[in-house]
Amino acid sequence: MKIKKSYVKNNPCYKEGKKIQVKGLMLHSVGMAQPNAGNFIETFNDSSYNRACVHAFIDANDGVVYQTLPWNYRGWHSGGSANNTHIGVEMCEPATIKYTSGTTIKCTDKEDAQKAVKRTYKSAVSLFAKLCLDYSLNPLGKGVIVSHHEGYSKGIATNHADPEHLWSGVGVDYSMSKFRKAVKKKLDALKEEKTKNAPKSMTNKDCPFVVTVTNPELKIRTGAGTNYEYTGENTGDGKFTIVEVKSGQGSEAGWGRLKSGAGWIGLCYCVRVE
Ligand SMILES: [Zn+2]
Repeated sequence: MKIKKSYVKNNPCYKEGKKIQVKGLMLHSVGMAQPNAGNFIETFNDSSYNRACVHAFIDANDGVVYQTLPWNYRGWHSGGSANNTHIGVEMCEPATIKYTSGTTIKCTDKEDAQKAVKRTYKSAVSLFAKLCLDYSLNPLGKGVIVSHHEGYSKGIATNHADPEHLWSGVGVDYSMSKFRKAVKKKLDALKEEKTKNAPKSMTNKDCPFVVTVTNPELKIRTGAGTNYEYTGENTGDGKFTIVEVKSGQGSEAGWGRLKSGAGWIGLCYCVRVE
């Protein structure tokens, strides 16, 4: 999922810059056969456009998320109190549908319409998972992730059918409950990745541990600090086992004693690998 910033700086919601404490996310679809996010962004990016503002549009042609407001700005997307608590995201709709009456849709090319709808759904799942991670939201929590339609049932949004009408209209097997579960699954994967990539701690308690060096010219010293003598040896490339950690001058991450007995190295220039 790609996010491109396209802030609608002329829109009153942007200009006002009112902040919200993000408590949830609301999913919308635009309610017309218009796949291009750019089209909406142009309309919204106008100082006289005081009818609506969302935080992002998902383009139905390429699935890219166009972010139109900073996530914690107050938008104008639900027509109700959800504006003060929820981030609003619009999925654009395929060019190959036709509104026959109200929220009834006919596909002019069902295969194409379904492809476009699957594209925006997939991006919405990824985006909502990212936002749940950033704002510590539980995707399965009550009222956290809602559609505009569900918002109406809860009394926090106006009477709209989106986006469920789109899904059923083009004949895909999606629902908000499936959507929330998909977000949860994606969020779990993001969390796992985050822990895996987090730098491992290098304290005395962690000893022994193995590091690689970011500079093979790293000097080995006789003690824990640049105030100790340089042994004349450098680490070179490789993996090194650290058996003791002490604080000392010249390396905020502390100093590590090499198992080899060669001396001490600055952990600022080390990455723990085992
Ligand atoms: Zn809506």
